Amino acid sequence: MIIDVHTHPPRPQFARPAGQAITNAAWRPDKAASISATPADYAQAMEVVDRAITFNIASHPDKDPNAPFDPSDLVMPTKEANDLTAALVQSQRGKVIGFVTVHPYEADPLQEIERGVHELGMRGVKLGLNYQRADLLGSEAYAIYGRAQQLGLPILFHMGTSPVRTAPLIDAYPLHVDRIAIAFPELKIIIAHIGHPWQVDTIVVIRKHPNVYADISAQFFRPWSMYNALRLATEWGVMPKLLFGSDYPIATPAETMAGTRQVNDILEGTKLPRVPEEEIEAIIHRDSLALLGLAD
Ligand SMILES: [Zn+2]
Repeated sequence: MIIDVHTHPPRPQFARPAGQAITNAAWRPDKAASISATPADYAQAMEVVDRAITFNIASHPDKDPNAPFDPSDLVMPTKEANDLTAALVQSQRGKVIGFVTVHPYEADPLQEIERGVHELGMRGVKLGLNYQRADLLGSEAYAIYGRAQQLGLPILFHMGTSPVRTAPLIDAYPLHVDRIAIAFPELKIIIAHIGHPWQVDTIVVIRKHPNVYADISAQFFRPWSMYNALRLATEWGVMPKLLFGSDYPIATPAETMAGTRQVNDILEGTKLPRVPEEEIEAIIHRDSLALLGLAD
């Protein structure tokens, strides 16, 4: 069983004919990432996994709907974001689970969570509060955490750095998840990207909170960072809290598996300790849906 817990639906407005893909060189250091995918591309990329979780990120309610088109902009109006996620889920015939996204400062985020769950069949919540320009520890966000806990919806947070200049880093700092997990001990939380480059902060949080996990998406293209993260996770005993994810379309699940399996390549000629290969396989094959309470 292989589950990709972190994928983004292809956005129709980014679709381009072959050879004219929209790429962004800021997302990964080894090559420019293409974001011009279609639902067919998505299905093809997901052939190597058994199940996947997908989501968008809701924009700030004050965002100008007529602002110029910006392909590096990750957010979109709430209803559009959730309808797009639901359409992708529909197209993938039971393989993909959608998470609803809301903005803490919109008029009625809890009602949109209801719509997401009851009308669109969503089974978790996605937030990227730095991209959303919202306070991670504010009362509006806490209302969302409380409802998610009540409804048994896991929350996946974008965590860690971002090249987006207007996205405040402090609202994606993984150590703050400790406060959220203390306030909502039954809430299942996934810290995306092991909170890179603050993986050590993520490790101390997932170590103490049974319901907090992290996904390994976007690690493999920074080999030293990934090696350190997975060695620290090994020494602190939190490898079982790491979930497989790709951050598609920034990377595919196949690339992420291959890249993660190469974590020890940089050790050649050194006496540095290896990341145990069987632990890497355990991450790739982890039944994350069962851990998140999403097993069918
Ligand atoms: Zn992502």
